[in-house]
Amino acid sequence: MAAPKDYYKILEVDEKADQETIKKSYRRLARKYHPDVSGKAGEDKFKEINEAYEVLSDPKKRREYDQMRLGYAHRQARSQGPGYQRVTFDGGFGDWGSIFEDLFSQAGADNGFTTRTRTQNVPEETVTLTLEQVARGDTIQLTVSEPQICPVCHGTNPDCPRCGGLGQVMEPKKFAVTIPPGVEAGSVLRVGNHARLRVEIAPHPRFVRQGNNLIGRLMVPVPLAATGGEVPVKPLVGETVMVKVPPHTNQGKMLRLRGLGLPQRGTSVKGDLLLEVTLRFPEPFTAEDDKLYQQLRANHKEVGGEIHAPR
Ligand SMILES: [Zn+2]
Repeated sequence: MAAPKDYYKILEVDEKADQETIKKSYRRLARKYHPDVSGKAGEDKFKEINEAYEVLSDPKKRREYDQMRLGYAHRQARSQGPGYQRVTFDGGFGDWGSIFEDLFSQAGADNGFTTRTRTQNVPEETVTLTLEQVARGDTIQLTVSEPQICPVCHGTNPDCPRCGGLGQVMEPKKFAVTIPPGVEAGSVLRVGNHARLRVEIAPHPRFVRQGNNLIGRLMVPVPLAATGGEVPVKPLVGETVMVKVPPHTNQGKMLRLRGLGLPQRGTSVKGDLLLEVTLRFPEPFTAEDDKLYQQLRANHKEVGGEIHAPR
């Protein structure tokens, strides 16, 4: 952030100067640098004097300008000191930036200032969502810190115990945030005026996300896989569905359940649920089961033994 222009220096007055002194000094300088008197050479200086007078002659604008300058000076001091805390410090630009913008939109557009955009240097917080919340697009209650002008000194006391002279403090504020259905990890949501929420998604015990698809392993008993049948499947959200397992289903077969994945952000499209069949012997395994499997084994001379690379 560039240092603010020193309007007091421009008007050749002391920082404590009263309105009358400022007015007198302004008139003297305005006469001296008026383009009619000093020509083209004085034009920029004349503009600068007027810009300074427009702010310092208005008690409200002057107060805001003083606070902004104070905040700037202290942030400069802080940024070089050992106690410098980046998040708190960065949080400052948003508010001061807006005061800055207000001030100079009133003072006229041609003021030679450039201001930071307000989205930069704003603290970013992290919110960890469950896959269910992402699927449903839940509304959640959150407490997020926002920069507020210091309630004790209003940015006027460099030794303020509350803000440490920064002129502002971070205050927790409650928000109801509606999660965009299908939001991806790493996305940033804007909350309130300043806060930015970086989305993280907690690992899920049953599913892994792959884009809009969900992937899981489905346990299927060996006899059911052999004969074919139906298996109850509880999707990420919603009611249990019966899934058809075809006869002679092998270990590793992928079953695709269309539309039971995650919504695609901003659309009505939904991804799929992909289930990898994992075969499991029924429990308990009875003496009769043993007899039947021995019979099966006798019917098939195949012994297997091929090797495949792991997937
Ligand atoms: Zn304070």
